[in-house]
Amino acid sequence: AGGWEKERRTETMKLKTAIEEIHLRHTFTISRESQDVVRVVTVELEDGGLTGFGEASPSSFYGEDAEGVRGDLELLEELVSDADPLYYRDILEQAAEVLGDRRGALCAFDTALFDLASRKLGAPLWRMLGLNPLRTPLTSFTIGIDSVEKMVEKLREARQYPILKVKLGTPQDIEVIRELRKETDAVFRVDANCGWTAGETIEKSAELKALGVEFIEQPLPPEELDAMEEVCRRSALPVIADENSIIPEDVPRLAGRFHGINIKLVKCGGILPALRMVHLARTLGLQVMFGCMIETSILISAAAQLGPLADYLDLDGNVLIEDDPYAGVENENGRLLLGEDWVRRR
Ligand code: MG
Repeated sequence: AGGWEKERRTETMKLKTAIEEIHLRHTFTISRESQDVVRVVTVELEDGGLTGFGEASPSSFYGEDAEGVRGDLELLEELVSDADPLYYRDILEQAAEVLGDRRGALCAFDTALFDLASRKLGAPLWRMLGLNPLRTPLTSFTIGIDSVEKMVEKLREARQYPILKVKLGTPQDIEVIRELRKETDAVFRVDANCGWTAGETIEKSAELKALGVEFIEQPLPPEELDAMEEVCRRSALPVIADENSIIPEDVPRLAGRFHGINIKLVKCGGILPALRMVHLARTLGLQVMFGCMIETSILISAAAQLGPLADYLDLDGNVLIEDDPYAGVENENGRLLLGEDWVRRR
């Protein structure tokens, strides 16, 4: 395409991949599943003595696993060999064509390429994008589903976090929030992970609001999007789409059905599609949240670079694990510190 010719380069960009196992501090339970160990795919993209780090935390809910993502990344080897990382938009356009809807691999590659380009330019991504780190909202810390007593215990361990996201979708949802509220004045957000009905959501929203809950994430299964119109109108609390908000193409139909969208790099395929989702959401008057899966500091730091664009952050995947192989953006009691340093292996 186009009338331009590729410049000849003397460097060769190299792509290395690995599957890494990370372990949760506590078994992590949401309405549909439980996890102790998570397998992520990491990418090192090397060019001219610099290395960019990327990651995918594939989820079976979105039809992906680590082996599949790693195999998909091999499809990009030819594409990177003579490409110049500073023309990352050209490269990502081609990578998206090669990968189609294999968005885990696209995310790992996209985040590694942005990281490499930013190292080449000598400025972290938030600087490249002209973002003000002081506008980064606080991140929440997530409490997974457990017995009420265990959830209270987990909350006590998380005293330093001013915002807590509580996983719900159990028969004792209101009791859980009532018991947790006795322990703290922290802001609560709740995530039903598709575990409620429309009527239940509207009813619970008023009680949850009275208990100091800020918003509800994805109450209904994604197939029930039409029922969200009434929920959105009648809920006492804002509703934020997660399982319904995967790629940029999803965003227009969420207006009027949700108040905001939760963007995750591994769902949409990395930084570039995430930025498209932010612009679409803002155009449509939707709020913006960045979320994560259970993942290392590579992917959390990549999402944190975009933090100043968000209303809400839920970037705690790296602090929920006990053996993060990487160090990146620090989480200081919920405050993500965007600095001049890049991610590194510990
Ligand atoms: Mg969620």
